[in-house]
Amino acid sequence: MHPHIWYPFTQAKISPPPLKVISARGIWLELEDGRKIMDCISSWWVNLHGHSHPKIAEAIYRQAIELEQVIFAGFTHQPAEKLAQELVKKLPDGLSRVFYSDNGSTAVEVALKMVYQYWVNQNQQRQKFIAFQGAYHGDTFGAMSVGSRSLFSQVFSDMLFEVDFLPFPETYIGDTSIEEREEAVLTLFKEKLTQNPQEYAGIIIEPLVQGAGGMRMCRVEFLQKLQQVVKQFDTLLIFDEVMTGFGRTGEWFACLKSQVTPDVICLSKGITGGFLPLSVTVCSDKIYDTFYSDDPIKTLYHGHSYTANPLGCAAALASWELMNENQVVFNSMEAKHLQYLEVLHGNSKVEKLRVTGTIAAMEIVNTQESGYLNQVGLEIREKALEKGLLLRPLGNVLYIMPPYCITDEELSEVYDSILSILKSI
Ligand SMILES: *Cc1c(COP(=O)(O)O)cnc(C)c1O
Repeated sequence: MHPHIWYPFTQAKISPPPLKVISARGIWLELEDGRKIMDCISSWWVNLHGHSHPKIAEAIYRQAIELEQVIFAGFTHQPAEKLAQELVKKLPDGLSRVFYSDNGSTAVEVALKMVYQYWVNQNQQRQKFIAFQGAYHGDTFGAMSVGSRSLFSQVFSDMLFEVDFLPFPETYIGDTSIEEREEAVLTLFKEKLTQNPQEYAGIIIEPLVQGAGGMRMCRVEFLQKLQQVVKQFDTLLIFDEVMTGFGRTGEWFACLKSQVTPDVICLSKGITGGFLPLSVTVCSDKIYDTFYSDDPIKTLYHGHSYTANPLGCAAALASWELMNENQVVFNSMEAKHLQYLEVLHGNSKVEKLRVTGTIAAMEIVNTQESGYLNQVGLEIREKALEKGLLLRPLGNVLYIMPPYCITDEELSEVYDSILSILKSI
C-alpha cells in the first residue's frame, strides 16, 4: 500500500496492494508490470466508450484552453446550457430542470432535498422517505439513509434519518412467482400510504437494476404499477439512475425503457463517458415551480465548488455524441449476453441468471451466506486477474458490465474465462 493514500472500501491491513495502471485504451488496462487486463466492469460502471477515447479527450482539451472552470452562480456557460438542453430533449416529457453537481451521492442528496423542500415550500411537513431493501444510493448521509442498512453504513446507523423500506421484487430468468411478489410489495406500499397519507415526501428506487446491492433486477411492469400508486396517493417518485443511465439498460435511460416518468431523476457515472466527475439531478416543472418565488426561503440552497464544471460538461457532450453514433451497440448487447447465459443455464455452480441491457449477472452457489462478505467473490476476482480480466463480484454475485466498445470476440472470451473459473472453484 502507498504510505500516504487511504483507498476507498479497502481494509488496508488485509488487502493485497492495488495494481498500478499506467495507461488504458479501449477495454484494456495496461499495468506497470506489462500485463494487460480487460476491464469487464467499466471501471466501477463509469466507462462507456472505452478508455482514453480520443474524441472525449480532444473535447476536454479544447474546452480546457477556452474556459476550464467558472463560478456557476451569477454566471453560466455554453457547455452546461447545451448539455442541459440535450438531456431534457431525450428524457421523458416533464423532466425539464437540470441541477448540476459532481457525483452520484450528491445527485441523490439534491434529489432528496428537492423533494423534501417541495412540500415545505407548500407549507407541508412530510418527514419520511420510502426506499427499497438492498438499495445503494451513495455514501453521504442522506444517500446512506435511503440506502439499505448494510455493512457500509452500519457504523453510522444511529446518525441516519428514519426511512421505511419495501422489499425489492428482484427477478431472474425462469422466475415463476414474480407477479405475486410484485403485488405483495405494491400492497405494502399502498398500506403505508393509506395509513399515513401526509407522512411521505417521496419514494426512491434504482429503476430496473439495483447496482451495489447485487445487480438485482426488477421488471418494467413493476415500475409502471409503482408509478400508478405514487400518482394515486400524491407523493413523489425519484429514479436514481446514477448507474442505469446512459444506455446501461439497453435504452438511453431506464425511465424511457419502462415508459415511466419520475418526478426527479439522478444521473452520474456514465455521464462523461467515464472521464470526469459530474452529475445532474433533473426534476419536473411541478417541483421547480414551488421553488420559483419572491421569497428567499423557498430557494434551493445547495451547490458545490465545481458545479457544472465546463470540462465535465464538454466531456459529457462528446460522450453523448458517441452514444448517438453507437446506439445500436447498447441496444443490442442484451441479446448477446442472453446467448451466453443460455450456455451457463444448468451449470450447477450458478443460479438466478439475469440480464438487463448491457448488464448480466448471476449468483455463485456456495455454502457461505449470500452477501458482500461472501468469500467466493474474492476467489473469483483473483482467478479472473490471472486470466487477464477485471471482474469484481459483489459478494457471491458475479456480473459483467463492459464498455460498449467490447467486440463480440472479447465478450465471448469473457464468458469462456468465466466458465473455466467456475470449473475451478
Ligand atoms: C454509484 C452509485 C451512487 C453513488 O455515486 P458516487 O458517484 O459513487 O457518489 C448512487 N446511486 C447509484 C444507483 C449508484 O450506482
